[in-house]
Amino acid sequence: MILLEGSIMKRMFVLGALLVVGGLSMAVAAQQAQTKQVIDVQKVADNYYVLTSSTPGNDATFSGGNVGVFITNNGVILVDTKLAGWGQTFLDRVKSISTKPVTTIINTHTHGDHTGNDDKFGTSVEIIAQENTKTNMAKMDAFKGDKAVFLPKRTFKDTLSFGSGNERIDLYYFGAGHTNGDAFVYFPALRVLQTGDLFARKDAPRIDRANGGSGVAYPQTLSKAVATLKNVDTVVPGHAPLMKWSDLQEYQRYTTDLLNEVQTARRGGKNADAAAASINLTDKYKGYTSEGVKAAVQAIYEELGATRTR
Ligand SMILES: [Zn+2]
Repeated sequence: MILLEGSIMKRMFVLGALLVVGGLSMAVAAQQAQTKQVIDVQKVADNYYVLTSSTPGNDATFSGGNVGVFITNNGVILVDTKLAGWGQTFLDRVKSISTKPVTTIINTHTHGDHTGNDDKFGTSVEIIAQENTKTNMAKMDAFKGDKAVFLPKRTFKDTLSFGSGNERIDLYYFGAGHTNGDAFVYFPALRVLQTGDLFARKDAPRIDRANGGSGVAYPQTLSKAVATLKNVDTVVPGHAPLMKWSDLQEYQRYTTDLLNEVQTARRGGKNADAAAASINLTDKYKGYTSEGVKAAVQAIYEELGATRTR
């Protein structure tokens, strides 16, 4: 009796365990199907590709910022490295474009959706960033302890050029904006400019004040870029499809208007929320969204040292 009961119990337990395991594997399979990671590739030139799928909002499809893949004789140069959770998909995608080793990573700025896989290509890879970005990266958990070896070893203040002929790359820092270390990456032979998140998309900029970003400096910084750079046809923004030089010029005007509108609203006694609600730039700037306006206005108010609360 006892034995029989025991064996029934055991059978029931085994059956239950099988159900649990079966249920689990179905759940895992469903999750895998749901989160199958896809990174799209856009060919811009024979030796330059952009890895997209970079629009935030949906965690299942957002892989991080646009990545430039520049193929040189010696190896592959990456501009940014997407989100850490996309490491294997990202590595596979890079390999599908070129089997040459990755020799260099340029980080446009500190954020984890642009630096997430800096550690996936070995310690011999040269990582390059603006000097303030290196300082910002050193504050991130992702670059602490053992991972500190993946902090940029080569930095620059205003400009840095390397490579020659068709493989030349020019890096520029024009001042604070999205952060205090945003690099523009220019490929003269291709007439391509990667802007990182200083020009992320056609919307109000995200101003990361904790990392030295400035909505007040933003229009001047872009103005300097627009005045300095020449011979750009293709603009690769941080988080949107490819654009043209005229789009960057327009973005400079947009950030100027945004700052002016905020200053006018503030002088008129509006608080940040009221200011944000009153600002409409999408009539003047076709194709723009205003999802980022509220946060940008708040950041500018903080920067201007707003004391008004009503
Ligand atoms: Zn960013």
